Amino acid sequence: GTTSERVNSNQIMVCVRKRPLRRKELADREQDVVSIPSKHTLVVHEPRKHVNLVKFLENHSFRFDYVFNEDCSNAMVYEYTARPLIKHIFDGGMATCFAYGQTGSGKTHTMGGQFPGRHQSSMDGIYGMAAMDVFATLKTVPYNKLNLKVSCSFFEIYGSRVFDLLMPGKPQLRVLEDSNQQVNVVGLTQNAVQNTDDVLALLELGNSVRTSGHTSANSKSSRSHAVFQIVLRSATEEKLHGKFSLIDLAGNERGADNSSADRVTRLEGSEINKSLLVLKECIRALGRQSSHLPFRGSKLTHVLRDSFIGGKKVKTCMIAMISPCLHSVEHTLNTLRYADRVKEL
Ligand code: ADP
Ligand code: MG
Repeated sequence: GTTSERVNSNQIMVCVRKRPLRRKELADREQDVVSIPSKHTLVVHEPRKHVNLVKFLENHSFRFDYVFNEDCSNAMVYEYTARPLIKHIFDGGMATCFAYGQTGSGKTHTMGGQFPGRHQSSMDGIYGMAAMDVFATLKTVPYNKLNLKVSCSFFEIYGSRVFDLLMPGKPQLRVLEDSNQQVNVVGLTQNAVQNTDDVLALLELGNSVRTSGHTSANSKSSRSHAVFQIVLRSATEEKLHGKFSLIDLAGNERGADNSSADRVTRLEGSEINKSLLVLKECIRALGRQSSHLPFRGSKLTHVLRDSFIGGKKVKTCMIAMISPCLHSVEHTLNTLRYADRVKEL
């Protein structure tokens, strides 16, 4: 609905990134069905058939805060999405940035959670660029006077279980809510970091732990949410100052998939589906300034509770990733409809 009222872009940003056709897809003569007429609009050309079998194209138009075409670099995506949130955490706010989309749409490529040894270094992703900016900002006036220290955590949510990606053996962690409704991931590694290189080393470690034991980097990782956090604390009182959570979400393609013969796969799919629905409701509640947040409805939103409450101190950005391919057009439309709903009042 392009005519419906939208929430303020200042607090909730929703962007879309279209990835290029891959070499294999070009070789297979895959058709590109997504066009981007402007920096804010996108059209999906869906081939359909009338009842009399006459073919036609149904054009679906969408409008977002920003639409990145296939020529945009990670640096450009970063500039318009996560980068403006760096100042927010230094000003004492909470920020989240979500990569949403089907498996293979470019979430991990964008965030920088690639399997080590692949063609890209972690520095080229949003995780690494955010870390670099955090250390640059730390040295500037007035933030240099705050005496802040930086630490990082990196964990994975698989079903309703949480695993520490910065600990050998990827131990499972418990999530507890205390009497003040503060949610704690018990024993989560919070590694102190002094510079970007320290962060990149943690990313390498976490990324290798995330995908270890799997021949394809996309097999298990596509079924879990990866949460990378950069935390600012005042060095003197250990008090939380600001936090940036950067999340590589599980693939959304299992939405209506009841076809899988494997019961575990089906259960996983419905868990993922539920967590993505609850996430959408939490962001929408934020946009409506509603006090009712259904964050207990999934482990992901429960763990991120402090990034959803707090009114104006909370900002969020969603990057919906899409494939250009004809064979993914249904998933692409699902992704865009989800992203569209996030900003509807
Ligand atoms: P996801 O994490 O959503 O499953 P990936 O990030 O693993 O998807 O991307 C799937 C493949 O497409 C990878 O080989 C990746 O390198 C490639 N890819 C994704 N986005 C881009 C892009 N913007 N430019 C070039 N290659 C990309
Ligand atoms: Mg991935």
